[in-house]
Amino acid sequence: MSKKPVTQPALHKVIMVGSGGVGKSALTLQFMYDEFVEDYEPTKADSYRKKILLDGEEVQIDILDTAGQEDYAAIRDNYFRSGEGFLCIFSITEDESFQATQDFREQILRVKNDENIPFLLVGNKCDLEERRKVTYQEASDRAKQWGVTYVETSAKTREHVDKVFFDLMREIRARKMEENKTNNGRGKDKNKRKKNSLKS
Ligand code: GDP
Ligand code: MG
Repeated sequence: MSKKPVTQPALHKVIMVGSGGVGKSALTLQFMYDEFVEDYEPTKADSYRKKILLDGEEVQIDILDTAGQEDYAAIRDNYFRSGEGFLCIFSITEDESFQATQDFREQILRVKNDENIPFLLVGNKCDLEERRKVTYQEASDRAKQWGVTYVETSAKTREHVDKVFFDLMREIRARKMEENKTNNGRGKDKNKRKKNSLKS
């Protein structure tokens, strides 16, 4: 009998961040189950896993849908630390949620300590054009300033929902390939433990 090598599909860990009510859960559930869920428990954080084909390669996506109101900074930081890529969501109908993306960006950069962390700025609820408060221009200006991509989505109509998850996974995959190159031949993850620079 020929032995088949046991290769696990690559696992890409995505974190949903953003203020309450912007559609983090709705986007996650639309991507996972092709359904628009209008009344998902707002205080719940949950994780999901799904096998998908990414440009012909079977991979697994792990999505952590945060509640966006994690009371303890330590819990939030742990979530962020576990992420390999981030979808930073606001609602185009709510300026406050757009302003909040600045804080999320800063928190993520502080925890990950990596300017090039895979990251997309996502303006959700683009089906509600008549209630728009954040212009496409100001959002894409902010994204440009951060060096990230801006995409508008609707969890209701499914517009660009697959796109944001797939584009982010491509960024994560590219990032891992780069890292593999730099670590070439060296012992991998086990030796990668970083010092905690936050301790004083
Ligand atoms: P979360 O707190 O960020 O997880 O937000 P939810 O996913 O719970 O969504 C909050 C509310 O906005 C719910 O009533 C959703 O039905 C609604 N919602 C989410 N995404 C969209 C969208 O793209 N379009 C519209 N019209 N409503 C949305
Ligand atoms: Mg939610």
